[in-house]
Amino acid sequence: MQPRSRRPKLAVWKFASCDGCQLTLLDCEDELLAVAGQVEIAHFLEATKAVVAGPYDVSLVEGSITTADDAARIRAIRRQSRRLIAIGACANWGGIQALRNMADVDAYMAQVYAHPEYIDTLETSTAIADHVPVDFELRGCPIDKHQLLEVIGALLAGRRPAIPHHSVCVECKRRGTPCVMVAHGIPCLGPVTQAGCGAICPAYGRGCYGCFGPMEAAHPAALTGELAALGVDAPAQHRLFQTFNAAAPAFQAAAYPEPAEGRR
Ligand code: SF4
Ligand code: SF4
Repeated sequence: MQPRSRRPKLAVWKFASCDGCQLTLLDCEDELLAVAGQVEIAHFLEATKAVVAGPYDVSLVEGSITTADDAARIRAIRRQSRRLIAIGACANWGGIQALRNMADVDAYMAQVYAHPEYIDTLETSTAIADHVPVDFELRGCPIDKHQLLEVIGALLAGRRPAIPHHSVCVECKRRGTPCVMVAHGIPCLGPVTQAGCGAICPAYGRGCYGCFGPMEAAHPAALTGELAALGVDAPAQHRLFQTFNAAAPAFQAAAYPEPAEGRR
């Protein structure tokens, strides 16, 4: 273990999110002890009330920007952070709460809250990179703990994280999982979704629903014909692409093949 004063300072921050990505860090169990030996956990309210003042060497940011206060707070965090990593679907694309971006947020609030007049929110849920420069975006809903440890380790070693940008299909092939679309006729977003989870869902006989978001140069339009051939009609395809990464442009384009009225 490095002496406390020489250890890089790690901070973990939360915005609009479910805390699942922060829990992934806590779920690292044994590895977390090794990480804690290499860094000073300076701000991680999910784990400890003790807070060490900035600046911070690495900030992990979970969640999306949904209020004016959020927008000011992320700028302050960026000023205090040498490296800033956005973790998870909310931080990278606005999360499932970004469904509001394609709808009327006031109508949503009226459906959910008895007194929507008390709610202070922006009309959109946006990614961290829409507000401040981000050094790395780690995908997933939630993120994968092995990828998280790889990113933290790489930053501490001063190298680029070795995170793949290919599709989930490649992970199916690597683990020897028969394709659920070809073998069982189950709709799957694996061909357009970024790898990283180890193709968990197909390994358990269900289709990927895209929680890692679109892969680099994803082309969902090439997949929608295959989905239709499996009986997934247009409304069902819309729902398939409009989940945790609803605001990712590639998934939006697949969900809204024609411009939708009122869509921003
Ligand atoms: S099951 Fe899905 S992710 Fe796996 S190879 Fe088939 S289409 Fe790709
Ligand atoms: S297979 Fe798809 S939906 Fe399942 S965990 Fe992986 S990326 Fe997420």
